Amino acid sequence: MSEEQRTGWIVGATFAALLALSAALMAAFNHSVHVADAFTRKDEREMVDRYLEGRVRTVIIGQTGQLVWDETMRHAVARTDTNWMDRELGMFPWTNQGAQETMLVEPDGTLVRGWRQGHYDPAYPYGPLRWQVEAALDLARSNRRISGAMARFERRGGTLWPVDRRGAPLTRWASSLIWRGGRPMLLTVAAIVPDRDYALLKAEPRYLVSLRVMDSQVLRALGADLLLPDFRFVSRAPRDPALNILARKSADGRPVGYFVWTAQLPGPAIWQAAAPLLATWIFLFLAVLAGGVMIVRRMRDTTRHLQASEAQAQYNALHDPMSGLANRLYFAERLRGELDIVIAQRAQGGQGDVFVAYIDLDAFKTVNDTMGHHVGDELVTQVAQRLRDGLLRTDLIARFGGDEFVVMRRTTGGLGAANALGRQVVGLMAEPFIISGHSLGVTCSCGISWGPGQTEDADELLRRADISLYRAKQGGRARYRCYTNGMEATERLARELELELRRAIAADELEAHFQPIVDLSTWQIEGFEALLRWPHPQRGDIGPGVFVPIAEQCGLMVPLGTWMLRRVFTQCRNWPACDLSINLSPIQIMAHGFVETIQSLVEETGISPRRVILEVTEGVMLDRSDNVAQSLRTLQGMGFRIALDDFGIGYSSLSYLRSFQFDRIKIDRSFVQNIEADHDAQSILGAIVALGQTLRMKVVAEGVETELQRRLVHAAGCELVQGHLFWPALPADQACALLTRNAADRMRQVI
Ligand code: C2E
Ligand code: CA
Ligand code: CA
Repeated sequence: MSEEQRTGWIVGATFAALLALSAALMAAFNHSVHVADAFTRKDEREMVDRYLEGRVRTVIIGQTGQLVWDETMRHAVARTDTNWMDRELGMFPWTNQGAQETMLVEPDGTLVRGWRQGHYDPAYPYGPLRWQVEAALDLARSNRRISGAMARFERRGGTLWPVDRRGAPLTRWASSLIWRGGRPMLLTVAAIVPDRDYALLKAEPRYLVSLRVMDSQVLRALGADLLLPDFRFVSRAPRDPALNILARKSADGRPVGYFVWTAQLPGPAIWQAAAPLLATWIFLFLAVLAGGVMIVRRMRDTTRHLQASEAQAQYNALHDPMSGLANRLYFAERLRGELDIVIAQRAQGGQGDVFVAYIDLDAFKTVNDTMGHHVGDELVTQVAQRLRDGLLRTDLIARFGGDEFVVMRRTTGGLGAANALGRQVVGLMAEPFIISGHSLGVTCSCGISWGPGQTEDADELLRRADISLYRAKQGGRARYRCYTNGMEATERLARELELELRRAIAADELEAHFQPIVDLSTWQIEGFEALLRWPHPQRGDIGPGVFVPIAEQCGLMVPLGTWMLRRVFTQCRNWPACDLSINLSPIQIMAHGFVETIQSLVEETGISPRRVILEVTEGVMLDRSDNVAQSLRTLQGMGFRIALDDFGIGYSSLSYLRSFQFDRIKIDRSFVQNIEADHDAQSILGAIVALGQTLRMKVVAEGVETELQRRLVHAAGCELVQGHLFWPALPADQACALLTRNAADRMRQVI
C-alpha cells in the first residue's frame, strides 16, 4: 500500500469513526428525549389519575353529611318517611352537591327510591343502570375505598364492616364513569352508616348512588385545575401521538372511555435547547470533514504530481526526447538483461539469441548540411516512426543520437534471422520521405550481430554490430551486413586508413590517374576519366574503392574532391584537345557552395568547362527537390557536361534518365561484364542506348575487358568505351603522351 493510500485509509477511518460517534450520540440523545417524553406521559397520567381520584374523594366527603348520620341510617332502614328521604337524599344532593340523579339502593343493588334533578321519580329508569350500580357496589365492598382511616373490620350483626379506632363504622364507597344518554357521568356509590349510634349498623347498610354529569364545562374546569386546556373525555382513543391518554374502565372492568389532553412533553423543548449545540456540532463536523477531504486531496494531488514528475524524469532519463525511442542507457541496460535471460535459458537447453541491428542513415549528414537541421530532425522523427510501425512490437528500438538507431530483437535462427532483420530494416527505408514538401530518397545501412551465439558480452555485441554497419556502408547504400569474424581486421584497417588519409591529403600524397575513353567509330581517344590514386608509402597503392567511402564517412570528401578537381584542372589544362571526366561524390554536390567552389577553380586554373564531364551517381538524385538538379543545371550553364555514372546497378532505373537532362550515361562495369552471358543484358543495353539517343545522351560502356564485350556493346549501339581492353588508368604523363602520339595506330596494334 502506498503512503498516499495509507493516509487516505487513516483519514477515511477517522471520519467513519467520527461519523459513527456522531450518529450514536444523536441516537442516544434522541432516545433520551423519547424516554423523557415517555416518563412525562406517565407522570401526567398519574397526576391526572390522582387528581380525578381526589375529586371523587371530595365528592364523597362532600356527601358525608348525609351518608354518615344516624338520621339517614334510620330513614334508609325504615323507608317510611318519604318526605324526609325526598328532601335529604333527592333535593339536597341536587341543589347543594351537583348530583343530577340519586338513588337509594339495597346492598344487592335493588332500587329503593330514585330522584332526578332533586325530585322523586316513581318511574326512575334504573334498568340500564343496574349492572353498573351492582359492579360499583362490588367494588366498594372489595374494601379498596374507605373514607377515613380504617382500624379493623368488625362484625356488626350480619356484616363484617370496617371501623375506625373509636369503633365508628366507615363509609365504603366506589366510583366509576358511565355513559348515560350519550353523556359521560360520574357514578358514585357510598354506604350510609351511623355517626353516633353505631348499634344502628346491624346488617350491610344501604347505599346512596349519585350521578354527576361530566359535561364539557366540568371537564374544562378540571382541565383548568390540571393546567391542561384541552382536557376532555372521549369514548374512543385518538391516535395522535401528541396527545396523552388515560383509559378508564367501568367498575366491572369494561373500557368506558378515555381522558385525553395534549401532552406537555419536554422533547421539543429539549431539542430546541440543544439545537444551537447540535448545529455547532454539525458545523464543526462538516468543517473538519471538508478540511480532511481537502488535506487528503491536496496530499493526493501532490503525490500524483510527484509520481508523475518522477515517472517523467525516469522516462526522460531513458528515452530520446526527439524520437521518443529508448536511449543508449536504457538500451544497454535492457540488452544486458535480455542476454542474461537467454544465456540462462540456454543453460536449461533453450535456444535463441539476442540480435542487435545498428542502423545509420546513408545521407543524413548531407540532408542536414544541405537542407537544414529542421529537415534533419523531421527525418529522424519519421525514421523512428517507420521503425516503430514496421518492426515487431517486441523489438526494442533505440536512438543513440544523430542518425544512429539500434534495434534489439530476441528470436531464434542465427544467421537466417539476422538476414531477415537486416532486410526488414533496409526495406523500411525504401520509400522516400516527404519532409516540408521535399521528397527525400534516404536509405539506411545496417549492421547486425547476435549473442550469445557470437559473443556473450553486451558491449562487444554492440561494437560488432557497429563494425558490421561500417562494412555495410563501405559496400554502398541501402545495405546490411551481418557480423563475421574477419570484419575485425578490416575495420581496424579502415580506422587506421582514415587517419592516414587525412595526413596524405595534407601531404599531397595522392595522385590523379587517367583512363582513356575510346570512340569506337573513329578509334580515337575521345577523353579520359580521372581516377584517384593513393600510393601509400607503406601499404602500397590503395584504390579509391577503399578510401573514397572512408573519406565520405569521415567528412574528408569535400576537401578530397576539391583537391582532385584542382589537380585535374591544373594537370590537364595544357593537354591537347580531349574530354576530361571527373567523378563527383554526392556529398560534394550537395555541400554548400559547391558551384562557387568549382567556379573559382575554373578561374584559378583557367580550364575550359566545355572539356570537363562531371560524373555523378544516382545517389545525388536522392534529393528529389530541385537543389541538386539546380546546381547541375547551373554547371551545365557554365559549360560543364554531366554524366550519370554507374548506370545499371543498385536502384538505377530508367526514370532517372528522365529526371534530368544528362549529357552522358555510363553503363556500369558489372553490367558490361554480364553482357557476354546474359542475352537480356544485351537487349537492355540496346534499349538504354536507344533511349539515350532519343534524350540526346551519349552512352559510355565501362570496364570493357574483352573483345567480345567490345563487339557486343558496339553492336548495342554504344560508341564510347573504356576498359582494360584498351588501357587501365594511367599516370598523368603517360596519358598525356598517349594523346600526342597517333593513338589510333597504337590501338590497332593493341587489338
Ligand atoms: P568508377 O567511376 O566506376 O570508375 C571506374 C572504375 O573502373 C575505376 O576503378 C577503373 O580503374 C575501373 N576500371 C576501368 N576499366 C576497367 C576494367 O576493364 N576492368 C576492371 N576490373 N576495372 C576497370 P577505380 O579507379 O578503382 O575507382 C573506383 C571508384 O572510385 C570509381 O568508380 C569511382 O566511383 C571512385 N573514384 C575514383 N576516383 C574518384 C574521384 O576523384 N572522386 C570520386 N568522388 N570518386 C572517385
Ligand atoms: Ca566514374
Ligand atoms: Ca562507373
